[in-house]
Amino acid sequence: MPVEERVFIAGAGPVGLTAAANLVRYGVPVTIFEAGEALSEESRASTFHPPTLDMLAELGAAEPLLAQGLRAPLFQYRTRDGVIAQFDFSVIADATRHPFRLQSEQFKLTRILHDRLGRKPDYRIEFGRRVAGLEQDGSAVHVTLEGTRSSERRSGRWLIAADGARSEVRRALNVDFPGFTWPERFLVVSTPFDFRSVMADLVSVAYVADPVRWHFLLEIPGLWRVMFPLAKAISDGEALSQAFAHSLMAAVTLGASRCEIAHMTLYKVHQRVAKNFRDGRVFLAGDAAHLNNPLGGMGMNGGIHDAINLTDRLAKVWSGAMPEQELDRYDRQRRQIALEYIEKQSIENKRNLECRNADFPAQLRGAAADPQRAYDYLLRVSMIASLRRAAELG
Ligand SMILES: Cc1cc2nc3c(=O)[nH]c(=O)nc-3n(C[C@H](O)[C@H](O)[C@H](O)COP(=O)(O)OP(=O)(O)OC[C@H]3O[C@@H](n4cnc5c(N)ncnc54)[C@H](O)[C@@H]3O)c2cc1C
Repeated sequence: MPVEERVFIAGAGPVGLTAAANLVRYGVPVTIFEAGEALSEESRASTFHPPTLDMLAELGAAEPLLAQGLRAPLFQYRTRDGVIAQFDFSVIADATRHPFRLQSEQFKLTRILHDRLGRKPDYRIEFGRRVAGLEQDGSAVHVTLEGTRSSERRSGRWLIAADGARSEVRRALNVDFPGFTWPERFLVVSTPFDFRSVMADLVSVAYVADPVRWHFLLEIPGLWRVMFPLAKAISDGEALSQAFAHSLMAAVTLGASRCEIAHMTLYKVHQRVAKNFRDGRVFLAGDAAHLNNPLGGMGMNGGIHDAINLTDRLAKVWSGAMPEQELDRYDRQRRQIALEYIEKQSIENKRNLECRNADFPAQLRGAAADPQRAYDYLLRVSMIASLRRAAELG
C-alpha cells in the first residue's frame, strides 16, 4: 500500500482542527478522518483562556472567534450571600495579548478553523470515516477506516489521535488511562434569564461555593450556562426534565421569577491521564490523552495547548530541522502538565467550591488584596503558568 506523504489526524474536534491548522501553516499536508458526517454542533466547552487566544491568533482564528464571543475580563467567587473575591485579567496584560477570558461555544472555533482550512491545498478532511484500528512500523502508520458502507486501509507518516474521551486509537495502542470517575454527574442548564436582575454585581464568569448545591454561572452571547452537580439518586430522566431545571434555577435566581430553559446537557465527568502520550509514530492529544472536570475550563484549553506543543515540533521534524527523538518532549511536557497542573487544579477547584477547604475564602480574599499574589494567581488560572512550567520541563 502506498504511503501518503501526510500527517493523519483522527477527529475534527477543537484539538484535531487546531493541530491541522498549525501543521498546514508550516506547509505540512494533513488529512483529518472524522467519524461524524459533519462537525459537532454540541454545546460543550465555552471558555477560551488568554494564552489559548494568543495561540489561535497565530492561526488567524482569534479575530473571528472574538467577533462571535463575549469578552470576560473579570471573574468572581461568590456564596449565596454575595461576592467573596473578584479578579481582573487586565492585571496580567504584560503576559498575554488577550487579558480576558473569551466566552464562546467550542463549535464556533471548529467551524472557523475548518472554514479557513478549506481553502488550503494541504488540508483534507474526510467525514464519516472512523479510525477503527492501526499498525505502525519505523516509517509509517497504517490505519483501518470504517465508513457507513465500506472500510479501507490507508497509510500516512504520523497519526495524531484527537478522537476524544473514548479514543479508539488509545484503545488500539493499549495505552492505560488510569484515574477515576466522579460519582455525581454534571448538569448544564442554559437560559436567557437576566441574572443581573437578581445579582446586580454579577460578572460574566462566577463560581458559587456551597457545600450542597455549588454551581457556576458562565455568560455566553445571549445566554447564561449554569452548571450543577447531580447526586446519584436523581435519574437521568428526572434531571433532564423542565420541572427539575426550574427547581434548580429557582435556587439560583432566589425565586425571583420562572426562567426560560433553552438547553440542558447532562454528562459524566472523569479525571484520567493516559500512561503515555506518544507511541512511536502516534500521539494522543486533548480528551484522548486526559480528562478532567470542567471547573476552571482546562479540558479544551489544555487540549489546544497539546495540539500546538506537538505540531510545532512535528512540523520541524517534517522539514528535517529537528530530530525525531525531540518528539518525546511532547510526551514529557504535556503529560506532566496534565498530571501536576490540569488534574490537580481542577480537583482542587471542585473541593473549594464544595467548601471542603475552610481557608479558601480567606485565601482568595488575601490573593485579591495583594497585587503580587493576584498576579501569580491570575497567571495560574489563565494557564499561562502551566505553559511556562512545560517549557521548563525540557
Ligand atoms: C457533554 C460534554 C459537555 C462538556 N462541557 C464542557 C464544559 O462545559 N466546559 C469544559 O471546559 N469542557 C466541557 N467538556 C469537555 C470539552 O468539550 C472537551 O475537553 C473538548 O471537546 C476536547 O476536544 P477534543 O478535540 O480533544 O475532543 P472532542 O471535542 O471530543 O472531539 C473528538 C472528535 O473526534 C471524533 N471521533 C471520535 N472517535 C473517532 C474515531 N475513532 N475516528 C475519527 N473521529 C473520531 C468525534 O466525532 C469528534 O468530532 C464537555 C464534554 C462533553 C462530552
